[in-house]
Amino acid sequence: MDEKHRKPEWVPRDAGKEFATRVLSAGTAPGENAVNNASQPRRARFSAAEIAKGVTQGNRAFLARAITLIESNSPRHFEDGQELVRLLLPASGNSVRIGITGTPGAGKSTFIESFGIWLIERGHKVAVLAIDPSSSLSLGSILGDKTRMEKLGRHPNSFIRPSPSGGALGGVARKTRESMIACEAAGYDVILIETVGVGQSETTVRSMVDFFLLMQISGAGDELQGIKKGIMELADLIAVNKADGDNILPAQQAAGELNNALHYLRPATPGWTTRALTCSALENLGLDKIWDAVQGFLEHGKNTGIFAERRQDQVLQWFESLLTEAVLNRFNSDPRVKSQLPGLRDRVQKGELPVLLAVKTLLDEI
Ligand code: GDP
Repeated sequence: MDEKHRKPEWVPRDAGKEFATRVLSAGTAPGENAVNNASQPRRARFSAAEIAKGVTQGNRAFLARAITLIESNSPRHFEDGQELVRLLLPASGNSVRIGITGTPGAGKSTFIESFGIWLIERGHKVAVLAIDPSSSLSLGSILGDKTRMEKLGRHPNSFIRPSPSGGALGGVARKTRESMIACEAAGYDVILIETVGVGQSETTVRSMVDFFLLMQISGAGDELQGIKKGIMELADLIAVNKADGDNILPAQQAAGELNNALHYLRPATPGWTTRALTCSALENLGLDKIWDAVQGFLEHGKNTGIFAERRQDQVLQWFESLLTEAVLNRFNSDPRVKSQLPGLRDRVQKGELPVLLAVKTLLDEI
């Protein structure tokens, strides 16, 4: 039976197609895009080598599977995931990695949908990943729980993935970095990483992309956005969105004010002048200017060596976060730690044992 007409278990065995309904196979990981998943491989388990092969052949279902493995919080999957990344690395690196941030409602997802399709029409393959600092709390996702970017999601040259849920931001950053590698190995040459401007997420995204785009809007909340000077200092380009209809002039004014303010700020990338321009994600206006800026930036980065240097620094950060995670994994799965930890926790909580002594006891165990 094909995937579309798979019958749920409660359907009588001899029932006809009238009972057929659309059910995703059990192998579908939570949050995976059902549209992207149309050709999900049926078998439950694949080796890292098999997944890597599927990914490098550009198969989206295998790419989704690869990312599920990379994102797994289970120590059991950690080594398989790392083996997979090792196999994918040689085929990675050939993309432009663009971070996109902005307050909720600025139009990020509308922009990603329009810009993504615009890029695909020009021969690119576009992957969209997200970092959502709230997801570990809500177990939801800024992308996963809404039917956003539907048109982009349906396009065979796109791949959309909600943010990994759970875990510390450091772990999320490591997973996103490795997911990016998987997307590149699958042939995606533009990677868009969306984040809501909350907490440390912008600095985290900045530390893994080549180019950082800040999306703003004119009018309500200008003052508030302006306060976020720190974010402006991370941006390589500011796009004042919703420059359409009656809002064209206010948007242009806002861009002008931002350009004035930018004179006084330190540029995010040495030698590169961060500018503000206007666009309309809804009406596809100004997308070309944004892409031109990305191209100009890449040229500047490649000519000056900044591009290569930035990527080298990022690899170092990746190393640090992977190291931290690997050490923690090894520590937590050590049988001596496992047997001692609950008792120590209990005694610390009851005030029977000083915190530092508890830590020392545990470290001395291994
Ligand atoms: P996000 O929270 O930053 O992802 O913002 P959304 O993409 O969900 O957009 C928030 C609202 O702004 C939605 O109602 C969009 O339709 C609207 N919007 C987004 N881009 C534009 C635009 O370029 N022009 C206008 N007029 N509305 C837009």
